[in-house]
Amino acid sequence: MARTLTQLAGIGVEVLDGVGPARAKGLAELDIATVADLLQHYPRRYLDRTREASIAELRPGEEAMVIGRVRSISSRRTRSRKTMVLAEVADGSGRLKVSFFNQPWRERQLPSGTEVVLFGKAEEFRGRLQMTNPVVDLIGDRTGRIVSVYPQSAKARLNSWDLARMVAEALRRAGTFAEPVPDGVLARFGLVDRTTAFADIHAPDTMAAKDAARRRLVFDELLRVQVRLVQRKVDLEQHARGVAHVVEGPLVDRFRSQLPFVLTGAQERTIAEIAADLASPAPMHRLLQGDVGAGKTLVALLSLLVAVQGGHQGALMAPTEVLAEQHALGIRNLLEGFTVPDEAEGSLFEGADMERSLRVELLTNRTPAAARRRILEGLGDGTVDLAIGTHALIADAVSFSSLGLVVIDEQHRFGVEQRAALRAKTTSGSVPDVLVMTATPIPRTAAMTVYGDLDVSVLDEKPPGRTPITTEWVRDEAGEAAMWEAVRGQVAEGRQVYVVCPLIGESEKLEVASAEETYAELTAPGGALDGLAVGLLHGRLGPADKEQTMDLFRTGSLDVLVSTTVIEVGVDVPNATVMVILDADRFGIAQLHQLRGRVGRGSHRSWCYLRSGEISPDGSARLDALVRSEDGFELAEIDLDLRGEGTIMGERQKGRNDLKLASLRRDREWVERAREVAVELVGDDPTMADHQLLADEVDALLADPDQADFLLKG
Ligand code: ADP
Ligand code: MG
Repeated sequence: MARTLTQLAGIGVEVLDGVGPARAKGLAELDIATVADLLQHYPRRYLDRTREASIAELRPGEEAMVIGRVRSISSRRTRSRKTMVLAEVADGSGRLKVSFFNQPWRERQLPSGTEVVLFGKAEEFRGRLQMTNPVVDLIGDRTGRIVSVYPQSAKARLNSWDLARMVAEALRRAGTFAEPVPDGVLARFGLVDRTTAFADIHAPDTMAAKDAARRRLVFDELLRVQVRLVQRKVDLEQHARGVAHVVEGPLVDRFRSQLPFVLTGAQERTIAEIAADLASPAPMHRLLQGDVGAGKTLVALLSLLVAVQGGHQGALMAPTEVLAEQHALGIRNLLEGFTVPDEAEGSLFEGADMERSLRVELLTNRTPAAARRRILEGLGDGTVDLAIGTHALIADAVSFSSLGLVVIDEQHRFGVEQRAALRAKTTSGSVPDVLVMTATPIPRTAAMTVYGDLDVSVLDEKPPGRTPITTEWVRDEAGEAAMWEAVRGQVAEGRQVYVVCPLIGESEKLEVASAEETYAELTAPGGALDGLAVGLLHGRLGPADKEQTMDLFRTGSLDVLVSTTVIEVGVDVPNATVMVILDADRFGIAQLHQLRGRVGRGSHRSWCYLRSGEISPDGSARLDALVRSEDGFELAEIDLDLRGEGTIMGERQKGRNDLKLASLRRDREWVERAREVAVELVGDDPTMADHQLLADEVDALLADPDQADFLLKG
């Protein structure tokens, strides 16, 4: 009978010959507890022995792989007091000197007689061939044409050939694997069957067979994640009771008719997508992605008005007080004079057409106690229509009478639990719609994996009339002098300027100190900003001071705002045209792009100066990318290439290790294929009765089956 991976996930490694308690402990160090874990402990490298060179064939200056036996090994101290380990390695054809600097442990690793594989560049030294600091693999006595090298761990006391032997036994005893993926799907993508895939990933005859095996197993990993996400989504759509909003109505009409500009095509499109979700009785879970300045706030506000005009409440949750206040300010302006039916009176006098002002309240931790009491009361009895705030909105005491829509701005600053908590805030019994807005562009495939349970709308067009931002990398002192000159020039023309201070590790205290120092230096007599009206903003200022400084900048009383990254998110001062970022190489691409997005919001030409001297290749690549591109999505792709997916996954899936082989970067197209197949296979049956093997496997193998769940909690 064919084996399933689910069965093997239930069998401990101790069943294998030669795996006793000690070995099992070693395997546990590698996170291998079951036979399924072992089979998914994939080689990290393959040695293609057909490409091996004999020592006699080595040419100075060329990279090569040689396999030989250690003849002798010794260590000594160099004049600069470093350790040098010297080995002599021989194969049938000749001898090679190998030296390792600063790797004293090599002497123990490579006792005389050890068979080693060396990768490196051969060099001629005093007429003899030698390799310095080559990559070393120990493979034991392997004979195959292609040798698999497994990730090992000294602590586990297991070497590559131990692992290869255990895997071989496991595969032999497992026999044929049951196939959870329909034949049609395998055929569509030219995928090999699972039995072949496991055999060839571990012990391939050719590199091509290994590649085919990898494709299949990558597909399986991605498919499991996608199936889980799609199952959750379908399940929720079928079971949770949301609000079916009426999209057309007086508030929306009025708001649209008094907008001073035309909505962009992308805004209209996303509004239509959101409207369709709002009109449906299933709760919405939508991610609205849009670059900084793309006009997300407006889309959110229109959506919130849909909820309010139907007699429900809307909530807008922002990550910082500054941003919540900014939203409240802007939204109150836009909704000046708006009214809603007065429920209390209206019910008494049918048709009396009583109206009251639409009530917008701001709730943060600094809301005074009395006001806070009033607001909580209003949320509870439904007389507050729109609540804007920080995480104070999800404090225990807060309860809405009928929360219809929650908008979460700049999602990346929020924890999952907070989102879930906000959802659970309504006493009406129906689940509110949720719109998550983010200005951090996420590459499409990463979004599919990380946010696969959300529908995604993309605002990929900026409002017209924006002037491009010229970005410059300021590399030296002369450039810096010119930069401050340009800053003063802009101030002379009535524009305003942000100066962002170096990011210092994780320490807010150091960051504040650095901001204070920078401020003092720039404003000192003879300093670059001497004589200008300069404000200082950082996280350790009291709320009142912070607010006052922001107000002074907003109203134009300050020319320059020196700050830490507290201004990163959402601050909107159209008259600001220059963004100076000091020690710019310390920031990531996404953060730099966010910061840059604070300028270029008005009709004046804008500049972004990235000040940074000598830096690492990675830092250079980041700054180059910013200079070259203003497109957030393009930058996100570059970021993914530079950093790998770990950081993207990190936000939402800390410790997720479902993807052992698949890379969101390298296997982009497979993410999309897996998504397509998952949607097909789940269909409208989240239990997947027709694909039981796959459903079981998803349950058994995903590191934490509930991990994909957290957006939908509550
Ligand atoms: P985001 O939140 O996506 O960064 P905002 O919603 O803050 O962007 O919009 C940035 C600025 O653009 C705001 O001042 C807003 O009033 C303006 N804006 C939004 N939509 C349009 C539009 N269609 N035409 C012109 N200006 C717009
Ligand atoms: Mg915004």
